[in-house]
Amino acid sequence: MNNDCLFCKIIRREIPAKIAFEDDEVLAFHDIQPAAPIHILFVPKKHVDSVVHVLDQEPVVSLLANRAVKAAEKLGIQSTGFRLVMNYGPDAGQTVHHLHMHLLGGAHLSHL
Ligand code: AMP
Ligand code: ZN
Repeated sequence: MNNDCLFCKIIRREIPAKIAFEDDEVLAFHDIQPAAPIHILFVPKKHVDSVVHVLDQEPVVSLLANRAVKAAEKLGIQSTGFRLVMNYGPDAGQTVHHLHMHLLGGAHLSHL
């Protein structure tokens, strides 16, 4: 846990969020500025800064992907498709330094 981290505050319920999914290891909540009809963020409950900081703990990334794909299935967007995104650093526009995976779907997304 990191006292000043926005997503840790959401995990501790100090800041409200629209929770989409929760288990012992992962919290998922709707993005406050959705870039698609479905835009959910999957975060590990244990604070880690970014994907670059988990090179020695690779299962965290697959854990987030597993929960995101299961949510996509539940939301009925597996047949239409979805996008999973992890931003790192300024060129990718990372704004929150707590590892998170974006799940985007529910409409045709412009190709990267
Ligand atoms: P990134 O740009 O990959 O670091 O993504 C951070 C995301 O967090 C952005 O899409 C923001 O819209 C989202 N965000 C920022 N503050 C909140 C919040 N309080 N609740 C939900 N999502 C947030
Ligand atoms: Zn954090």
